[in-house]
Amino acid sequence: MQIPDHARDVVERLERYGYEAYVVGGCVRDSLLGREPKDWDVCTSALPEEVLRVFRRFHVIKTGLQHGTLTVMSEHRPVEVTTFRTDGSYSDGRHPDSVSFVPRIEEDLARRDFTINAMAYNPARGLIDLYGGQDDLRAGLIRCVGEPDARFHEDGLRLLRALRFAARYGFAPERETGYALRRNRHLLEHISAERIFSELRGILEGRDALSMLLGFPELFTAVIPELEPCIGAPQNSPYHCYDVWTHSAHAVQAAPADIILRLTLLLHDIAKPACRSTDAAGIDHFHGHPEQGAQLAERILRRLKSDNDTRRDVVTLIREHDRALPQDLPAMRRLIGKLGLLNTQRLLEVQRADLAAHAPEHRESWAADLRRAQALLAEVQDEPPAFSVGDLAIGGRELLQMGLAPGPGIRRLLEQLLREVQDEQLTNSPEALCTRARQLLTTPQA
Ligand code: ATP
Ligand code: MG
Repeated sequence: MQIPDHARDVVERLERYGYEAYVVGGCVRDSLLGREPKDWDVCTSALPEEVLRVFRRFHVIKTGLQHGTLTVMSEHRPVEVTTFRTDGSYSDGRHPDSVSFVPRIEEDLARRDFTINAMAYNPARGLIDLYGGQDDLRAGLIRCVGEPDARFHEDGLRLLRALRFAARYGFAPERETGYALRRNRHLLEHISAERIFSELRGILEGRDALSMLLGFPELFTAVIPELEPCIGAPQNSPYHCYDVWTHSAHAVQAAPADIILRLTLLLHDIAKPACRSTDAAGIDHFHGHPEQGAQLAERILRRLKSDNDTRRDVVTLIREHDRALPQDLPAMRRLIGKLGLLNTQRLLEVQRADLAAHAPEHRESWAADLRRAQALLAEVQDEPPAFSVGDLAIGGRELLQMGLAPGPGIRRLLEQLLREVQDEQLTNSPEALCTRARQLLTTPQA
């Protein structure tokens, strides 16, 4: 196993001082998977004061001193060093009431959540794998260390962590762990919104979000009860081959692994069950579901304490998700003026993913519209921008100098000029705009 120098130095220094030390947890797991670990964590028999002494010449941050965790800056990179510990009881279902430091690594590994996260490695002593973590890595299984029900009761966040690791690596929860996940969904009630949102994000961004959404819908409805009516909700329409939940899950998977896109697709049809009507021919319609869905998503994302930017973009994209895409350049320029370039690009991604989760025989004409919109978007990005009045070569100041009275008339005139530029009837230069402005002022138009 390759350990980078900055982490190896921390392990070796602790050992030189007579303590035991290992790299542990996620970095061992990711190395064995051949993936680059995000960060390197070390566990040690040294007590926190002893760790401080060993690294007294280093910059050390007292990250979680009560829990035995210090961050040592080694070659300018942070390494978390945690004293071997066991966790006391968990009366709040999230935080251990107390931790106790223990002398042996075996006890420390026993407190860790999943077998693939419970391995430690020391360059001299090799891999410590007491729970079959390597076998589970090979088999692609997420398995609790110890008795799943008990482990989930200690800390309900582990339910979502299980799905996050499974989604990230394309693994499956092992059978008993899987049953316990479903049985214990109520434990998510005790978890803070911030933590739920952060795990949800990890699940949705995973490479196999689909299997988690289809396999464990009850965990998603436990954190977003508004999704409940979507599960099994029929869509009697030639365009659809799935119920609302299955459609949404496939749409999530078809989107790039970006949280804004994937949250949008998770929630885009959330108001369909509430908006459903069936016509005389037995075909379902869902009038108004984008707007109602946007309002629901706004409430959900506020409750989950999503950051504001993510919430705003997701709500906008849900509101717009069913919009007919521009099929000519002026319409594309105006859409970018309304949504901004980034959200226009995202809207195309959202529709591509939505389309991929529709009945195959009805995709072609929509796909053609999407391709055309994509080409128009590329073309518009190649020209000087003319998306909003701010892109015009003149502004309110020039119009005032022309003698126009201050007031809303200025804005209206600029918007008229913008429309003509977007329609390619007018060049976006100061001279052309001023000439046209004078003309419009002397011969007012309807
Ligand atoms: P990531 O790549 O997402 O950082 P990670 O495995 O490093 O994955 P962390 O949350 O950074 O996850 O935690 C580091 C290690 O601490 C885990 O590998 C696991 O051994 C242990 N751990 C973390 N959270 C828990 C928990 N809630 N319950 C039990 N053990 C945990
Ligand atoms: Mg980590």
